[in-house]
Amino acid sequence: MGIVIDGKKVAASVKERVRARAVEFESIRGRKVGLAVIKAGDDPASAIYVRNKIKACEACRIESFSFDLPSDVVQAELETLILKLNRDNKVDGILVQLPLPKHINERAVLSLIDPKKDADGFHAVNAGKLFLGESDGTVACTPRGIIELIESTGEKICGKNAVVIGRSNIVGKPIAMLLLNNNATVTVCHSKTVNIKEITRSADILVVAVGKKHFVTADMVKRGAIVIDVGMNRYEGGLYGDVDFDGAKDVAGYITPVPGGVGPMTIAMLLQNTVDGAFHE
Ligand code: NAP
Repeated sequence: MGIVIDGKKVAASVKERVRARAVEFESIRGRKVGLAVIKAGDDPASAIYVRNKIKACEACRIESFSFDLPSDVVQAELETLILKLNRDNKVDGILVQLPLPKHINERAVLSLIDPKKDADGFHAVNAGKLFLGESDGTVACTPRGIIELIESTGEKICGKNAVVIGRSNIVGKPIAMLLLNNNATVTVCHSKTVNIKEITRSADILVVAVGKKHFVTADMVKRGAIVIDVGMNRYEGGLYGDVDFDGAKDVAGYITPVPGGVGPMTIAMLLQNTVDGAFHE
């Protein structure tokens, strides 16, 4: 049976590291690292995510500034808030919880965030820096967390065959670029990929971000592979990954569970991005 990668444990050590850096920042600058968290509308899942992020900030001595806007907020109001936060010296990171209400142009809002304060790493400037292999940009939280999880196994990424299933802007594309920048040989699969099983069976590192419960089964996994399950599929009251964990764990060398794998890393890396941003200003 493969080794289960404990995302909670890795996330706890990242948060410890972040807290130490936040304390250092406070002693040098005489103020706390600050993260502005903007939520618009009453999506219940967003409310939980935002609450968890604010709680995590407190634990890491990061000051959070919370902006809870109504679902009928207008585009101009959101944009004015972003511009104000860009100028605010107490704010090192800005996070806009997605999704925004349907009438809001999400891209237009995100693109107004000062790239140096882009805690989520979704800004085109930061995505471009990742693409160019420039290390001074902010990397999206989930992909950055995935690299930490892979590194926690002690296995090298360099020279490995890595297969990513999914090509979204928030997970698939950035993790493919990060793996490539770490000298893996990367294949990206998507809904039009033919013979996906043949491809996944060649993967030393398999990252699955499809959004379909138990999409990857044991017969799709190479023996000894590192399997990272990004999926978070809510189904009949339960939370399921994109990988059939019970089957795949007997074939994989290392595997992340859901919950308790990639999920906890996403918040930890948001805090890491915020503290990094504060020092880079
Ligand atoms: P997304 O934007 O819906 O992208 C899904 C990707 O899967 C697309 O690229 C799609 O291909 C591909 N796909 C769909 N059906 C496929 C098939 N039959 N074969 C191969 N590829 C297929 O999803 P996302 O935002 O990347 O999220 C993916 C999952 O990760 C979701 O469950 C989400 O909840 C979860 N997630 C978790 C975290 C975390 O913190 N743990 C963070 C972000 C996301 P096309 O491009 O061709 O349509």
